[in-house]
Amino acid sequence: MARVRTTLVVQNTIRLTDHLIRVRLGGPGFATFRPSEFTDSYVKLVFPGPDGEIMRTYTVREVDRAAEEIAIDFVYHGDEGIAGPWAATAEPGDSIDMFGPGGAYAPRADADWHLLAGDESALPAIAAAAAALPSDAVGQIYVEVAGPADQLAFVHPEGVELTWVHRGDAEPGEQLAAAVRAGQWRDGQAQVFIHGEAQAVMHDLRPYVRKEHAVPAEWASLSGYWRRGRTEEGFRSWKSELAEAEKATPAGV
Ligand SMILES: Cc1cc2nc3c(=O)[nH]c(=O)nc-3n(C[C@H](O)[C@H](O)[C@H](O)COP(=O)(O)OP(=O)(O)OC[C@H]3O[C@@H](n4cnc5c(N)ncnc54)[C@H](O)[C@@H]3O)c2cc1C
Repeated sequence: MARVRTTLVVQNTIRLTDHLIRVRLGGPGFATFRPSEFTDSYVKLVFPGPDGEIMRTYTVREVDRAAEEIAIDFVYHGDEGIAGPWAATAEPGDSIDMFGPGGAYAPRADADWHLLAGDESALPAIAAAAAALPSDAVGQIYVEVAGPADQLAFVHPEGVELTWVHRGDAEPGEQLAAAVRAGQWRDGQAQVFIHGEAQAVMHDLRPYVRKEHAVPAEWASLSGYWRRGRTEEGFRSWKSELAEAEKATPAGV
């Protein structure tokens, strides 16, 4: 992740769905922003906190070089937290600092098929990946959202089937994991991109992909983007604990 600090200015905000807010950011700082070649390109947004600065991680949904703007889609998950509530009240002229972008995944042309799955937090990265797939790509996309009012149309190749999964009253990620497991697993080399609520991704879908279907690490991008009941700081310590536990139990994937 580039350690360059960029300051961008809110150009406008759009409510995309009941729980998704797009914030367009531009201004003079755009000249120093260096877009990444990855479709899961992300930045660390910097917010003031009581004991210093607080970082929050967000995907760069798109870079509009002509308008000199980037777009970030924020899940509005209620009044708790920093970044979600900030997006809900952001106004043109507000400025925000960020580090990055970083990233690690882009669709590979040599994959036989693609599996992409996630919740609203991963929808920006999934949509960016879907737009970058070759037109003859085949595969499955699953996106879990709260309900029908949270579905957001995005471009994907005809051969890549999109399934919307409605969370309803279930815990985040439960319906997604069930849908992916019940869905089609195609023949040939899969390239997998699955992100979202950490428990569902790391404890349910990661073993499904890496162990049950033996997808090698270099073909699988799997991680939690957030953790139920934890702030991003709390989630980082959960990840460290998980990594320690897996070191002690090498059978983990
Ligand atoms: C690489 C990467 C890319 C990401 N891209 C995006 C993106 O493009 N858009 C996006 O919205 N998020 C994205 N996320 C997730 C985002 O960083 C977290 O959701 C983050 O916790 C939000 O910060 P906050 O200040 O709003 O809430 P926090 O202060 O971190 O948490 C406050 C409370 O809200 C809950 N919470 C946090 N996120 C959610 C959620 N999505 N749904 C329901 N409850 C939640 C927490 O469990 C906690 O109880 C990404 C994460 C990573 C690692």
